[in-house]
Amino acid sequence: MSEVILRADNLFKHYPIKAGVLRRTVGYVKAVDGVSFDLHKGETLGIVGESGCGKSTLARLLVGLEEPFRSHADKREGSGRLLYGDVDVTRLSGAAWRRARRDIQMIFQDPYTSLNPRKTVGDIVAEPFHIHPDVVPAAQRRAKVQELLDLVGLNPEHINRYPHQFSGGQRQRIGIARGLALNPKILVCDEPVSALDVSVQAQVVNLLERLQQELGLAYIFIAHDLSVVRHISDRVGVMYLGTMAEIGDEDQIYSRPTHPYTQALLSAVPVPDPTLRNSRDQIVLTGDVPSPANPPAGCRFHTRCWRAQDRCEVEVPQLIMRPDGAGDHASACHFAEVRQVV
Ligand code: SF4
Repeated sequence: MSEVILRADNLFKHYPIKAGVLRRTVGYVKAVDGVSFDLHKGETLGIVGESGCGKSTLARLLVGLEEPFRSHADKREGSGRLLYGDVDVTRLSGAAWRRARRDIQMIFQDPYTSLNPRKTVGDIVAEPFHIHPDVVPAAQRRAKVQELLDLVGLNPEHINRYPHQFSGGQRQRIGIARGLALNPKILVCDEPVSALDVSVQAQVVNLLERLQQELGLAYIFIAHDLSVVRHISDRVGVMYLGTMAEIGDEDQIYSRPTHPYTQALLSAVPVPDPTLRNSRDQIVLTGDVPSPANPPAGCRFHTRCWRAQDRCEVEVPQLIMRPDGAGDHASACHFAEVRQVV
């Protein structure tokens, strides 16, 4: 496997819940609660999970829109590190922080709201140059923006048009061009196709794959659509209630999952072949996802898990390697067991 380009080490994001006249903190929403993983050079790591599992908060932590620790004490003690190469970017500040963050950019979910309707496409794509003016000299920025538009399959002559003059798919291409403006090494794609029609989704996914080949990018691809994630990902992480339930190669996760939650998610994926569909055991999860403000003790999945035992209610399962084959397949379950998925 290629070298590790980004290491997320024990990331947290707890949002305080305020109440009363004095706005005292009465609890925390544990949106991300101790997530760790590696991203390798040039690979795509897909992140899947139900709504509210912490995927989008994780994306914001990775690009520096939020700090990935619970408190200053955590920060001092070294918890919540984001290692880009050998450098912990979460402990940088000022110019060093901006320089390191330049290499990790984000593509946002909704192309209809993530672009300022009052700005031209040229101004939108050139936005990152205001924060990093040294990347492209001012005199060359228009040409650079046109080059970026061409790279993502848009007409460079449309540089003076406004977002409303483009379709949804074209707007997402504008967002991708903006994400590429600073020549990043890593793109964090937060549900980049979920707001688009299915036919347009395929075009944007194909564009991301082509750009990865041409530019050697690594992607974190966050989505709730398991089929899209399978198509684009080399490895996949499955999140549940702010934690990583299982992570491994795409084939291991989709064909030989070991965590009951992953197995349930996959059993719910629609299968067009009726023979195959009838031969499948569908696992129906009961109950709602618990609140991240009050997650269950022990294994967070135990309130919905059909394999739960007494131990699961008190002991937190660690994300550990599973001896089911090659790769770095790990799952957080006391009773992890391979289930073949056809
Ligand atoms: Fe289910 Fe227990 Fe495994 Fe959690 S640890 S996924 S409750 S079997």
